[in-house]
Amino acid sequence: MTTAAIPQTDPRAGYFEQKKEIDAAIARVLASGQYILGREVEAFEAAFAAWLGIGHAIGAGSGTDAIELAVRACGIGPGGLVFTVSHTAVATVAAIERAGAVPVLVDIEPGGFTMDPASLAAVLREPPPGRPAAVLPVHLYGEPADLGPILELARRHGLYLIEDCAQSHGAVYRGRPTGSFGDIACFSFYPTKNLGALGDAGMTATDDPELAVALRELREYGWRERYVSARSGINTRLDPLQAAVLATRLPRLADDNARRQAIAARYDQGLAGLPLALPRRRAECTHVFHQYVIRTAQREQLREHLRAAQIGTGIHYPVPVHLQPAYRNRLGEFPAGLPETTRAMREILSLPIYPQLAEEAADRVIAETRRFFE
Ligand SMILES: *Cc1c(COP(=O)(O)O)cnc(C)c1O
Repeated sequence: MTTAAIPQTDPRAGYFEQKKEIDAAIARVLASGQYILGREVEAFEAAFAAWLGIGHAIGAGSGTDAIELAVRACGIGPGGLVFTVSHTAVATVAAIERAGAVPVLVDIEPGGFTMDPASLAAVLREPPPGRPAAVLPVHLYGEPADLGPILELARRHGLYLIEDCAQSHGAVYRGRPTGSFGDIACFSFYPTKNLGALGDAGMTATDDPELAVALRELREYGWRERYVSARSGINTRLDPLQAAVLATRLPRLADDNARRQAIAARYDQGLAGLPLALPRRRAECTHVFHQYVIRTAQREQLREHLRAAQIGTGIHYPVPVHLQPAYRNRLGEFPAGLPETTRAMREILSLPIYPQLAEEAADRVIAETRRFFE
C-alpha cells in the first residue's frame, strides 16, 4: 500500500476546486482587450473594500509593493522610523527600506508570534536616531496582533498605524476585521495566502480619502491624470487577470477560513497532551490559520520524522530578519536583543494546512506526530 504525500500547502487544489469559474474569468479578461487596470480591477477593488467595510481599496502588484506604497503615502521617507517585527516575512522589512524609511525591529510576545506592545513601548522610550513615524504590526499566521495597546501607543506618540494583513484576511480583533484599524492596511494575494491569486497581487486599504488619492497616484507613476505626474511614483498595478481570479474567490473566503479553522481544531484535539506548544488563541479574536504553528525543542527531529512519513512541513521563518546577511549589523543595535524572536526561530514548525486538506490527511499528521513522541 502506498500513502499519498501530504504537502504543507497546495494552491493548485484551490484552482482545481474552482477551475470552471476561474478559467471563465481568465477567458473573459483575455477577450476584453483590457490588460492594464480597467473594469476588472475596479470591480475587485470595490468588492474588497465592501468586504472589509472600508472606504477605499487600491490594487497593487504584490503585498510587498502594497507596504512600500503605504509607507510612502504617509509621507515617510529617509530618516523616518517604522517600528515593526523581525519575526515576519522579510518582505515587511524590505518594503519599508524600499520606501526609503528605516525599519526598527521590536520583539514578539513571550509565547506568541506577534508584536509585543511592551517591547514596542520600550523602544519608543529610547528610539534610535531618526524621526518616529509609524508602527507596522504583522498579523502573523492569521492571528491578530494585540492592536488595542499597539494602537494606543501609536496615537500617543503621533505615529501612523500600518497593518500588514498579508496573512490575516478575515481575522477579527475585538469584533472588527484586521485591516480596519490602521491608517492603511496592506494585503498580499500570494497564491498560498488565505485569499490567493494565481501569481503576484496585493492591495492597500484605507478610510482616509487623502491617503487613498496618494496610494492611487503612487502606484502608477504618480499620475493624477494620464501623463500628469503629481508626485514621483512607481509602477505597481494589480493585474486584471489576477483581479478577475480574486473576484471569483472573495465570496468563498469565509468558507475557506472556516475549513482552515476546522483543521486547526482537529489538530488542537489530536495533539493535546503531547510535549509541544499548540497555537494559543487570544481572547476576543478570530484566528484564520494561515499557518498552524507548533513549538517544540525537538523541531528538527520531528520535521525529519514527518518528512520520512511523506508529510510536508514548513518553518515560517527559518531566520528572522535581524539575523539575515543583508540586515545583520545594519539595523541598529538592540540593547535588550530580541530574545523571544530568537527563541521562536528554533522551535517553530508549520503543519500542513489549506482549505482542501482532507480530514484523513490531518489525522495522519496527528498520528505520525503522536508516534514521534511515543
Ligand atoms: C506574503 C507576505 C508579504 C509579501 O507579500 P508578497 O505578495 O509576496 O509581496 C508581506 N508580509 C507578510 C507577513 C507576508 O506573509
